[in-house]
Amino acid sequence: MSSADVTRVIDDRRREAAARLVAIEAQLSGIRVARSDANDDDEHDPEGSTLSTEWSRAEGQRADAERELAELDAARDRIADGTYGACASCGAPIPSGRLLLLPAATLCVPCAERSALSRS
Ligand SMILES: [Zn+2]
Repeated sequence: MSSADVTRVIDDRRREAAARLVAIEAQLSGIRVARSDANDDDEHDPEGSTLSTEWSRAEGQRADAERELAELDAARDRIADGTYGACASCGAPIPSGRLLLLPAATLCVPCAERSALSRS
């Protein structure tokens, strides 16, 4: 896989994550408006508590989208300095199939599995 291909995959993902972030921000500001109209007492107001749930979900999605953008930016930096596609742990090349699926991956499969195991 050439670095032009990788760049395209990363830019596609970036565009998609940026668009998702815009949609989530719009959703959050919609909830903010609805909340200020609704009763402040979430406990006894079914609409208020639904808004709280939607708010936490949208906040979580926003955090995910922001993290994804940051990871994709870091991947672009690695392409620029020529370290992209090498495992950050053992230095082995990361298979291109994995990079197509997870263009922001920093670890090869065995290292990713090891790190997942050590985390749990
Ligand atoms: Zn590795």
